[in-house]
Amino acid sequence: MSDIDKLRDQIDKITLEIIRLLKARVELVKEIGSIKNNLGLGITNEERERQLRTKVISLCKEIGLEERIAATMLNFLLNESVKIQSSGKQTHLSIFLKAKSLEQQGKKIIHMEVGEPDFYPPKIVKKALGEVYDKGFTKYGESKGMPEFRAALARKNSERYRTNIKTENIMVSSGARFSVFLSISSLLHPGDEIIIIEPAWPAYRENALNASIKVRTVHTTLEEKWEPSTKEIESMINPNTKMIVLNYPNNPTGKILPRKIQDQVVDIAIKNGLYILSDEIYSDYAYKEWKSVLSYEYNKSIITQSFSKSHAMTGFRIGYSVSSPEIIDRMAKLQALCITNVSEPIQYVSLKALEADTSDNTKTMKNRLGVVIQKAKTMRLDFEEPDGAMYLFARVRNDNFDGSDFANKLLDSGVAVAPGEAFGDYQNFLRISACQPEQTLIEGMRVINKVLG
Ligand code: PMP
Repeated sequence: MSDIDKLRDQIDKITLEIIRLLKARVELVKEIGSIKNNLGLGITNEERERQLRTKVISLCKEIGLEERIAATMLNFLLNESVKIQSSGKQTHLSIFLKAKSLEQQGKKIIHMEVGEPDFYPPKIVKKALGEVYDKGFTKYGESKGMPEFRAALARKNSERYRTNIKTENIMVSSGARFSVFLSISSLLHPGDEIIIIEPAWPAYRENALNASIKVRTVHTTLEEKWEPSTKEIESMINPNTKMIVLNYPNNPTGKILPRKIQDQVVDIAIKNGLYILSDEIYSDYAYKEWKSVLSYEYNKSIITQSFSKSHAMTGFRIGYSVSSPEIIDRMAKLQALCITNVSEPIQYVSLKALEADTSDNTKTMKNRLGVVIQKAKTMRLDFEEPDGAMYLFARVRNDNFDGSDFANKLLDSGVAVAPGEAFGDYQNFLRISACQPEQTLIEGMRVINKVLG
């Protein structure tokens, strides 16, 4: 055997040994997962991860291994553990799909699990749909979106936030969901870390896991009015930390951060050179003062927007991102790879939708949320009144309450709600969506109250 063959032989043995150890680790992770499940514990435990991280770093020092390599490997292992332990988790989408399938079997369901306004898109959308054929929107287009549409979005945002946004700062996408995927997958790399403030819309975490990015969770509580500790955020940041996600008005809590806290969080991100992914799709449903991250004019911020909620156009799958031209370029490359470009007929229709006044949607949603809040006050629920969005995130006054069991049971009575565990470690919470007419919401709340017992 030559020298290189002998060394390669050792490499093979070590690699196979690592795989054997991985198998043993996976088995332990599964066992711990079922114990956590039985005890009603959440999957991620930041303190436990911190302890393991400390041990790994001290071993690196002892054996002289570069910390960066070990940290990347550890993040990979931790992510795999989360994926394994999350496999049976209920999300609001699983309840939504179950509700849809019950409907197909003829059952009547009141949808209070999904953030989908029941009202129609603006009238102008109907007219524009009839025009797309004659206007010739039948071909491939630019991956960043139609220039005319991007320019209109740039103007709209410049006027609204009094900033100087240009066409090159805009990229059209198939809904904010796809913008979130594009920003996480094109800007971050395996082993990088992302900070997510929970409760949170589940797609941030799922996208990070999908791209092998480690999620660091800032857990917020009802008692602290869903406000994150800026100290905790700062203490999590290390050289691997690359992005923080903000989503205000928030899904599921409806929270808008007090100005001072938001300023501090943005400041921390800027000082540490982090990307800020600010998902602002509920900005038209802000019922008190709210500040867009666009106003900070930070060149590493990515703002995601959508027509889904503001224009009741969920099914059209249309949204956009606002960021620096460099970031837009990177995201557009991935968009081109995935879908070439967003359907031009839909872009044209959305361009036209910009002409509509949608302020009635905001009033309607605020009133509906008011109805849900009034009913909830008479029930065994604790909550902070939402400052925006279209949901009530409430804790059930029952120590043994399990939101997932309840949501499944409630479906039998014809009402769908989202279990709290979809948004983080909130097993005894429910998210109740106010996207139905008032009488339907009243009936839904009556049924929820009855099933709560
Ligand atoms: N962001 C948040 C916070 C959401 O709640 C949702 C949908 N519920 C989305 C993004 C997805 O929006 P879109 O329909 O534009 O993909």
